Amino acid sequence: MHGHTPRRRFGQNFLADPHYVRRIVDAVNPRPGEALVEIGPGLGALTADLIARAGHLQAVEIDRDLAARLRERFSATQLTLFEDDALRFDFARLSAALSAPLRIVGNLPYNISSPLLFHLAADTASLRDLHVMLQKEVVARMTATPSTPDYGRLSVMLQVKFAIARLFVVPPGAFTPAPKVDSAVARLTPLGAHAPQLDDEPLFARLVSAAFAQRRKTLRNALAACCTPDDLRAAEIDPQARGENLAVADFVRLANQLSGCQGSEKPLSRGEKYA
Ligand code: SAM
Repeated sequence: MHGHTPRRRFGQNFLADPHYVRRIVDAVNPRPGEALVEIGPGLGALTADLIARAGHLQAVEIDRDLAARLRERFSATQLTLFEDDALRFDFARLSAALSAPLRIVGNLPYNISSPLLFHLAADTASLRDLHVMLQKEVVARMTATPSTPDYGRLSVMLQVKFAIARLFVVPPGAFTPAPKVDSAVARLTPLGAHAPQLDDEPLFARLVSAAFAQRRKTLRNALAACCTPDDLRAAEIDPQARGENLAVADFVRLANQLSGCQGSEKPLSRGEKYA
């Protein structure tokens, strides 16, 4: 650990097994000239191999002590380091500055993995792909299909923007300190031109949240504040179904239909609109 005491608040479990470092870097397959960005380089386990393959790397690290160590170890021609919070970092701006879509890599701090993925999903136009290591259960939720226990808000909100593949599992023993759970590496590739057209993204997000807020509720009840059973039927959705039964395309169809017939900030039922 080279004298560094891992900070739990920054989710510091450092990758210490060269076998998994190689597998992750092979999965990314970085090439010179690409806009490669590491989130949370930490003690540099992945950083050194990424630089060896790409020549230059951008990185965002929140821990000042680790940032100072990274600056000592890597030259400015190898590493451009942003001492910043990745949750607030403007990745779109970095992509514009580099005139290239970003390839993001990270053994992500588990305590912020979902908000970080939502932050990155907010602007997929500036992304080429993401390779992230997360808690295995989170990857299961990201890749889940409808009518399975892991399918939920995270599945729908990410699958509407990305093709997601689970690549391989990494056991706790590969890290120092060892986490209590297995991890998994996932690849997320923006759908680009194949992404479904969302007429009103905030409305879509609110619908998905409401549909999964209480999983056992039927959509008729879970979405009562947003739409009527007739709205659901008009979008070819059974009001007695549950959120977990709807495919991503069903949520898109419903949100676009509500957006088309309302055009308001907050989704209203048709009854309210015409009242
Ligand atoms: N990449 C290293 C590795 O594989 O060994 C470290 C991984 S460790 C799980 C997570 C890293 O992300 C730590 O270096 C931590 O300081 C950093 N980190 C935690 N929260 C962060 C945030 N909000 N923004 C940027 N970096 C963060």
